[in-house]
Amino acid sequence: MDDANWGHFDRMLPLQIEAIFKKNPIAYIPWGAIEYHGNHNPTGLDTHKAYHLCTDLAKVSGGLVFPPISLAANLIKSYKGVDFPKHSIEFSERLVRSICEEYLEQLISQEFKIVVLLSGHAGQPHLDILKDVAERYNKKQTDCYIWALAEFDILPNELLEANHSALGETSLQLYYEPQTVVLDNLPKEREVTLKQDAVSGKDPRLANKKLGEQIAKTFVLNASKKIESFKQTYF
Ligand SMILES: [Zn+2]
Repeated sequence: MDDANWGHFDRMLPLQIEAIFKKNPIAYIPWGAIEYHGNHNPTGLDTHKAYHLCTDLAKVSGGLVFPPISLAANLIKSYKGVDFPKHSIEFSERLVRSICEEYLEQLISQEFKIVVLLSGHAGQPHLDILKDVAERYNKKQTDCYIWALAEFDILPNELLEANHSALGETSLQLYYEPQTVVLDNLPKEREVTLKQDAVSGKDPRLANKKLGEQIAKTFVLNASKKIESFKQTYF
């Protein structure tokens, strides 16, 4: 354990945290949501996605993965033209901004050099708020770099585009937590739609573990290259 390069912050003793921090002062914040993702995916999909991607990335780049935050604004619950009032817990944009500010403030004061804030939820302006808070801190000081992103920001469009419970998200969920996905709950005799199925993007009926694995591995490869370049500047 003492020669570990990464760990889950909330499962470690202070001495273990310090040992990792010394080598890799990188914090990962998986930022998710509790949001209705249709009848085929669990409500915590965005949280699970961000948590697992951060964990896989930390295994390669080193550092400390914080527990996921499942607080998000701009959920499907309040999308115009659809009617999914249940199975989501939505928070205000103002609160999301405050939590992000207070969280980052403390990571900066604890002298992390790189903070990776990965948003599993891409509703807007939720995602832009997280990026805006990060940019404000980046402008203010130079000892720490805060990288706020969504997974699709660093993936080619043919592999993954922003989507809601569609091919990409469902494949990732099948890869990481297959027991939580039921593709059979999707309609068989008609098209899959946003209005009826809460799906925005490519057909989730084609989702598979292999594609999820390919998305996850490409994300980790691309993100770890970025982190290497941040290390050159900030370590
Ligand atoms: Zn999602």
